[in-house]
Amino acid sequence: MNVIGLLAGHQGAGRGATCSDGVEEVTITTDIAARLQKKLREAGYQVDLLDEFDARLDNYQAAVFVALHADSCIRGASGFKIASRKIADSITTRALRDCLQGHYHEATHLEPQPFGVTPAMTHYYAFDRLAPETPAAIIELGFISTDRAILLDQPEQAVQGLYAGIICFLERDKR
Ligand SMILES: [Zn+2]
Repeated sequence: MNVIGLLAGHQGAGRGATCSDGVEEVTITTDIAARLQKKLREAGYQVDLLDEFDARLDNYQAAVFVALHADSCIRGASGFKIASRKIADSITTRALRDCLQGHYHEATHLEPQPFGVTPAMTHYYAFDRLAPETPAAIIELGFISTDRAILLDQPEQAVQGLYAGIICFLERDKR
């Protein structure tokens, strides 16, 4: 099964983080998710784009599932965060995190912030709704404050990092 599931954070359910100048998290997540879907489809993958709280999440089966969010507008904060779903196969759990983290860092030059990962990420509600074996991760792509240029103005870098991370994970047994 070669289906990839992408969830655009807050799409269809609110706006997410909103900065004082009006920039909203959902604008960033929907744009990057749509670009990533297009890029993966062009590479031959079947890609589902899901809303936040999408009805299709229940027992959702995919080769990989990635939820995209962006972090708050806190001044001075920078970097990205990844949490992967703890499934029975811990090697797979780690491989997904490492692939996404390495390639996202390489493409965006943002720094991973492993100590900033919150319970809301490790226990992301969608993880509990997926089929038990579906490998899944959530990524906070960067802070809308400091990292805005990468999230909003040059999203190709973020898209490239996510794309390479997903391919790295899907192709891991072939290396
Ligand atoms: Zn969010």
